[in-house]
Amino acid sequence: MASAPITTSTRCCVVGGGPAGMMLGYLLARAGVQTVVLEKHADFLRDFRGDTVHPSTLRIMDELGLLDAFLQRPHQRLRSLNGVFGSERVQLGDFSGLPERYAFIAMMPQWDFLDFLVGEAKKLPAFSVRMQANVTGLLTAEDGSVAGVRGSSPEGEFEVLADCTIGCDGRHSTVRAAAGLAVEDLGAPIDVLWFRVGRDPSSEDSALARVAPGHFVVTLDRGDYWQCAFVIPKGGAEALQKQDIAVFHEQVVATAPVLLSHIGDVRSWSDVKLLTVKVDRLLDWSKPGLLCIGDAAHAMSPVGGVGINLAIQDAVATANLLAAKLRAGGALSEDDLDAVHRRRLWPTKATQAMQVAIQNNVLVRVMGSHAGEPLEVPLPMRVLTAVPALQRLFARLLGMGVRPEHVRSPAA
Ligand SMILES: Cc1cc2nc3c(=O)[nH]c(=O)nc-3n(C[C@H](O)[C@H](O)[C@H](O)COP(=O)(O)OP(=O)(O)OC[C@H]3O[C@@H](n4cnc5c(N)ncnc54)[C@H](O)[C@@H]3O)c2cc1C
Repeated sequence: MASAPITTSTRCCVVGGGPAGMMLGYLLARAGVQTVVLEKHADFLRDFRGDTVHPSTLRIMDELGLLDAFLQRPHQRLRSLNGVFGSERVQLGDFSGLPERYAFIAMMPQWDFLDFLVGEAKKLPAFSVRMQANVTGLLTAEDGSVAGVRGSSPEGEFEVLADCTIGCDGRHSTVRAAAGLAVEDLGAPIDVLWFRVGRDPSSEDSALARVAPGHFVVTLDRGDYWQCAFVIPKGGAEALQKQDIAVFHEQVVATAPVLLSHIGDVRSWSDVKLLTVKVDRLLDWSKPGLLCIGDAAHAMSPVGGVGINLAIQDAVATANLLAAKLRAGGALSEDDLDAVHRRRLWPTKATQAMQVAIQNNVLVRVMGSHAGEPLEVPLPMRVLTAVPALQRLFARLLGMGVRPEHVRSPAA
């Protein structure tokens, strides 16, 4: 006979320990709300998470008094956004117009970022995190509202009873599916192959993106290696992976010659991970007892590297709107929960519209072009490259996001 699930209870249960979940867990616990974060993996050591900590997130860290300690962790500072488009260098963004303390994107592997946040959160008595806690479904109260979650862990099945459950479990969210929340698919014509290639740490080449006919490679400088993203048409991985890895080497190096000397680090297809991209949005982000934020509410494309940013901003807005009410006790109303949706819908729509426009107008066009064909730098990129003031404006928009949030939730 199966043993009964281990049942615990809490005021707020956050599902998923990514950027949205960890920041929200930290902020709610900081406000004195008993919060448990459930994360299905044993650690944060996975590559798919992206590396960008944007100025808006740095400012949030500053507002929380955490920035100096955070920046002690190894990172690179990206002060401008540049790339190679065909044979031309393009310069798209310049962060120097922002206040000096966050006039850059901190490039830090996300496991370091999350490790830092969870370390700070664990100092708060109201916070707890359970790793290897895989949420598999929702608990429902007699009145039909969500009353917590169920899941499995190495210790066995568990249930967490919670007054408020917040799904932060990313773009393949179990919580949103279990809640039956309706999704609007905005379409993503690309997938990404993710791999790493050795880098000479003294190299001065820091271009973030390299574009050649048919191919687009993102190169994230991680000191002694490049974290690379090779953009492919949606569903194109299977055909490519039937070919010898040498064909892949050729395509990558033709687009990003900087990778030539260490491309052999990619020994076989098992060194290349397929990341499927989707862009979608829930029509409602909540139902009684439950709210979704971050990618669980709106899956983001990697375009612009802004998904982490948006997830953190959602978390800050959620804490601003709900922490004091959660702390005060009693049930949150549907209107309380929907306030997060109302606040964050416009920035989400605007950011996704930017991502979809770039996907459809730049990436699809690049991938549809063939070797030998001239690759024309799109007009907006030309204009940005020519006008430094616009580069500062663009960097501000990208770095701070649309409707940036400030920490207004209380500290207990
Ligand atoms: C290929 C690719 C590259 C990207 N690169 C960047 C980038 O460089 N910069 C950027 O800003 N954005 C990037 N993005 C977007 C970014 O990854 C997301 O927008 C961002 O991670 C969303 O944060 P989140 O906390 O909402 O979700 P996630 O980061 O997806 O975190 C969800 C967490 O929930 C956990 N989880 C999932 N299911 C369960 C479950 N059932 N039970 C318990 N835990 C669970 C997961 O393990 C994970 O830790 C990229 C996206 C893709 C597809």
